[in-house]
Amino acid sequence: MKPAEVLISEVGPRDGLQSVKATMPTADKLRWIDALVAAGLREIEVGSFVPPKLLPQMADAAEVVRHALTHPGVTIMALVPNLRGAEAALRSGVHKITIPCSASEAHSLANVRKSRQEMVEEVRAIVRLRNDIAPGVKIEAGLSTAFGCTLQGIVSDDDVVWMAEQVVGAGADEAGLSDTTGMANPAQVRRLFHKVRAAIGDKTGAAHMHNTRGLGLANCLAAYDVGVRTFDSSLGGLGGCPYAPGASGNVVTEDLVFMFEAMGIATGVDIDMLIAARAPLQAGLPGEPLYGMTPLAGLPKGWV
Ligand code: ZN
Repeated sequence: MKPAEVLISEVGPRDGLQSVKATMPTADKLRWIDALVAAGLREIEVGSFVPPKLLPQMADAAEVVRHALTHPGVTIMALVPNLRGAEAALRSGVHKITIPCSASEAHSLANVRKSRQEMVEEVRAIVRLRNDIAPGVKIEAGLSTAFGCTLQGIVSDDDVVWMAEQVVGAGADEAGLSDTTGMANPAQVRRLFHKVRAAIGDKTGAAHMHNTRGLGLANCLAAYDVGVRTFDSSLGGLGGCPYAPGASGNVVTEDLVFMFEAMGIATGVDIDMLIAARAPLQAGLPGEPLYGMTPLAGLPKGWV
């Protein structure tokens, strides 16, 4: 297998599980994560450090991290909304944390009850804590609603670039762009990644695209064309954003891997084993709909 040319960052165990009502039993989560690793995924967002009262689905985050860390060579990530969550995540031993920072003021207030400026200060505090207690841990700011907001409507490019500059100025190692609400189109993806890269250079992070209106893969390809090499996606397309009504459907990992591999762009992921990883997911969440075209159609004749 040739060395991976793109990094597929699997977000299902976090973004996916926190968006569904049912809570997956811990043992099933661990089996699912093992299957994702076996398929060749090398970065997995395994949980969210938030109060269990708010998200009971994530109450076992520390235990899930502990297990995930037993897989060598896999970057284990967790989402943290604030300093308190960051402290728990940093103490759990994760390699990387991601902080959702809305580009839209309205979404920021609804999602984390903080203004954008207050969120920048939160990032600064988290960076300070990281420097003190876990200096090796990478910090990513995920700029949510970068391509539009269900509350505010249009989010200007300038607002996104401003937020990217602010979070990197506050010490974040990278800033990625998230289409939280499924409003992005390929021309916008190209334009915005271009502008953000012009502002923060190689601190430009992942593309987190949603398939809400069927443009998930097209948007990933547009991001690839302008130099993005890390893509967030979710097995079976599980998940969306609970604060953006109607917004569901992360990009399906199986279809994303198929697209890149079919183009000769190595992902390091084995599609058959990836499809097999749907079994433990389904076992832990019986009846939950899974998405994706490649698992239905199978691999084409002659595929190697
Ligand atoms: Zn998502």
